[in-house]
Amino acid sequence: MNTRNLRFRSNRVRDILALMHEELDGMYGSGEVSAFGEMLFEAFLGWDRVRLLTSREQTVDQSDLLRFHWALEDLKRHRPIQHIIGHVDFCGCRIEVSPDVLIPRPETEEMVEWIVKSYELRVMSGGILDLCTGSGCIAIALKKAFPTAEVTAVDISPAAIETARLNAESNGVEVHFVEGDVLDGVNGSYGLIVSNPPYVMEKERSQMQPNVLDYDPALALFVPDDDPLRFYRAITSIAQQHLATEGALVVEINESLAEETCALLRDNGLYPTLHIDFRGKARWISATQTINR
Ligand code: GLN
Repeated sequence: MNTRNLRFRSNRVRDILALMHEELDGMYGSGEVSAFGEMLFEAFLGWDRVRLLTSREQTVDQSDLLRFHWALEDLKRHRPIQHIIGHVDFCGCRIEVSPDVLIPRPETEEMVEWIVKSYELRVMSGGILDLCTGSGCIAIALKKAFPTAEVTAVDISPAAIETARLNAESNGVEVHFVEGDVLDGVNGSYGLIVSNPPYVMEKERSQMQPNVLDYDPALALFVPDDDPLRFYRAITSIAQQHLATEGALVVEINESLAEETCALLRDNGLYPTLHIDFRGKARWISATQTINR
């Protein structure tokens, strides 16, 4: 195929980037399109940022040009860049993603980094349970950070469990995966219970981006408007029954339900602390069974 068929003016790096900006800036904003460019050059050619900055006059070969062409078409259809590239970096782990699993978010990464900083001794001595694991990102990152802890991860979706298993394997960690409904409860005793369950209310759909609505699994996102805390009730009851006395529960939350979620934990005898993410939003709650932990 020659370059004309691909709409690129040439196979020069500078022209590839220019066309991306021309066609995508209106949809995404120029900063994000520059980031896409960096991610694609890294994924397709293994170039880092500096190499890209200093190689504007170089050319790529036809087969790579074709890949940029399809990536551009996909981005115009709101396909997430993470699906185009096929993976996400999450706490130093490479997590493969597909339409079967929620793309790991930077907010979740921040929560996991906070757990790693905060709970070392506690989780070392008890097991870790990750509920609604999806891609397995939380479980895998925690197992990497705490190699001696036993990590169990649960998800209702067989396809998600399959992806999570492959991710654990490719990151060289052992996680015990269980296919099951969190609403039905779990077995065992744990030093840390962690979860990023579905928490987006149906009525919030209208504020969401097409890349999320069309490509992230609805099963991992949405809860009914009349019962938005259904997973948190189940998780709270699991924590009451399966958290070691000195253990901690950490849950990612819907920022608009922070008060209600804290109240639910408090009403069930837990001591919640609310944490704000890097965007300034109430994003996760840590809770213990005794005060001052
Ligand atoms: N934070 C996710 C979003 O972007 C939602 C994750 C979840 O429902 N657990 O919509």
